[in-house]
Amino acid sequence: MPKTPAVRDYIRTIVDFPHEGIMFRDVTTLFADARGFRMAIDQMLHPYAGMEIDKVVGLEARGFILGGAIAHQLSVGFVPIRKKGKLPARTISQDYKLEYGEAIVEIHEDAIAPGERVLLVDDLLATGGTAAAGLKLIERLGGEIVSCAFIIDLPDLGGRKLLEGMGMDVHALCA
Ligand code: 5GP
Repeated sequence: MPKTPAVRDYIRTIVDFPHEGIMFRDVTTLFADARGFRMAIDQMLHPYAGMEIDKVVGLEARGFILGGAIAHQLSVGFVPIRKKGKLPARTISQDYKLEYGEAIVEIHEDAIAPGERVLLVDDLLATGGTAAAGLKLIERLGGEIVSCAFIIDLPDLGGRKLLEGMGMDVHALCA
């Protein structure tokens, strides 16, 4: 009997994208497959069954696709964290280090009320810099972070260690 595909089987790797030497995990093939996408959302939700979550926060850009679907399943609101200059209303900003240089992410200052229980969502955890910046924004608004959910964790790049060192609960579907 043919083996039932797992979430990781729907993800392809693109060699030398966006730069030479980078093996880019392309999740668009997972998102494009009805069965794969549903499986990924169901599995990302699994650890949070019965837990109280008030908001889902997604990191630009693939975190919007996952976070929107997860928020819909949980019947809670969705909040985007975007790169600098994209959000229209008043924001707070957080900078973080990239391999070369710096980046800034922003959230609307009224997007999360103090005490709201928040789930952070993105497609991939590498160094953890992006997620850590997002978590700081949520904390600065007074949100209580329940957990962080990813499809892929690249453990050699240290992201899980960084987030767990911040006291965060981290879940990923595959490495
Ligand atoms: P980090 O900040 O943890 O080093 O990088 C994670 C961020 O970069 C995430 O927002 C993720 O979407 C993006 N990213 C980095 N490498 C990849 C990759 O190979 N595939 C995908 N899909 N996203 C990546």
